[in-house]
Amino acid sequence: MIEQNKMEKIVSLCKRRGFVFPSSEIYGGLAAIYDYGHYGALLKNNIRDAWWKHMVQLRSDIIGLDSAIFMHPTTWIASGHVGNFMDPQIDCRKCKNRMRADHILEEHGISADKQPIEFINEQINKLREEKKIKCQFCGSTDLTQARVFSLMVKSNLGSPTEELSEENVVYLRPETCGGIYLNYKNTVDSMRVKLPFGIAQIGKAFRNEIVARQFIFRTREFEQMEMQYFLHPSIMKEKYEMWKELRWKWYLEYGIPKEKLNWYKHEKLAHYASEAYDIEYKFESLGGFKEVEGIHARGDWDLSQHSKFSGIDLTYFDQEKEEKFIPHIAETSVGLNRLFFMFIDNAFTEEKIDDETRTVLKFNKNLAPIKIAVFPLLKNKPELVAKAKEIYDSLKINYMCEFDDNGNIGKRYRRQDEIGTPYCVTVDFDSLEDKKVTIRDRDTMQQERVEIEKLEEWMKDKLAF
Ligand code: ATP
Repeated sequence: MIEQNKMEKIVSLCKRRGFVFPSSEIYGGLAAIYDYGHYGALLKNNIRDAWWKHMVQLRSDIIGLDSAIFMHPTTWIASGHVGNFMDPQIDCRKCKNRMRADHILEEHGISADKQPIEFINEQINKLREEKKIKCQFCGSTDLTQARVFSLMVKSNLGSPTEELSEENVVYLRPETCGGIYLNYKNTVDSMRVKLPFGIAQIGKAFRNEIVARQFIFRTREFEQMEMQYFLHPSIMKEKYEMWKELRWKWYLEYGIPKEKLNWYKHEKLAHYASEAYDIEYKFESLGGFKEVEGIHARGDWDLSQHSKFSGIDLTYFDQEKEEKFIPHIAETSVGLNRLFFMFIDNAFTEEKIDDETRTVLKFNKNLAPIKIAVFPLLKNKPELVAKAKEIYDSLKINYMCEFDDNGNIGKRYRRQDEIGTPYCVTVDFDSLEDKKVTIRDRDTMQQERVEIEKLEEWMKDKLAF
């Protein structure tokens, strides 16, 4: 069941508290594009850092990369995107809204995964005859046939005209892994790595999505965090299982309960793939389990295609075994914005306290945008303000902190709860005497007196970054 209410509350909180804004709002907005405000940018950075830490910093077998968004247009011909990266769409002739034909079929228990458009139309027509389909928006049965719709976003470079032509067309990358394949050789040559090893990168991707109405779940501009692990095919099974396990654990480590996670096994695979699983998260605001990450065993398709189209030899020579081969790839691919939504959906909590409702984002503490808020008990007492500022100035060196002296303490706590700040530190009159402050915990709302001198140490114990 979709918790419509929860979705509305999350969208409203995200806007009101500066997490997510609709793009170009003063011009009426731009469909399926969003901007991230102060707290949104901080939360996104923390999720990004948590991924990078596990995927690069803690591993000696993974190399980082930051490749360009624009790539040689042949990249996307070689990868099959120019010919095949399409979704089937159906239009309503009455209200002009657009729907995904494959999603309509899925609702009737028919999988359209990797099926040709002829199959899709055959199935749609059957449902039409049985009077089982209608427009999801206005209920009209006056629908078009399904047509394929390219997801590739085109642009032009280096041309004096604004028109797109065969010579100047470039694509905004639809996924970040293309840049990894093209830099495979540069990485082997410059980093002198031995198989198995991975290349990881985080960056923007663009897709001309037909249906994009689920807040930041599916947008036309988004960020991906992808890692391609290059290996000898004989160890694919072992490493594929290793990555499945490691990625699953990552979610648990950052506070997602295992009951809200699920493995979805793809039965219909691309011809080059041997296994594909998605990690799904149970979005209460979207009504059920939805994909957040894909983990795929991709064979040697990618490097073989780029080798063929570029004419550059991308084989790997194993000196010990004196064997030459094109490496196979195990891939982990996740959307940063989708994870952002997942963490907010999971953290969003409403608690009844007396007659009031407390809204609190119970993020894993390390992901919280602001780690510590520092308050003087009263705004008009210079000695309290000065002491609170001094504490804020020293804590902010290591943690993202906020100073707030506006309104009564209760209101300040509520504001910090709404953005998920784990600790609030208050300087009161006693602090000037006993050199202690009150620390209030976001989740338990318990308060504790701690010596100002020991604050840094206290925080170090609770917060990793
Ligand atoms: P979906 O089935 O949801 O369209 P996909 O299978 O096309 O996703 P992949 O190409 O495997 O997705 O991309 C990997 C990850 O990138 C997805 O699991 C998702 O987290 C993210 N992602 C893909 N498309 C979008 C999008 N339009 N907006 C936000 N995130 C996206």
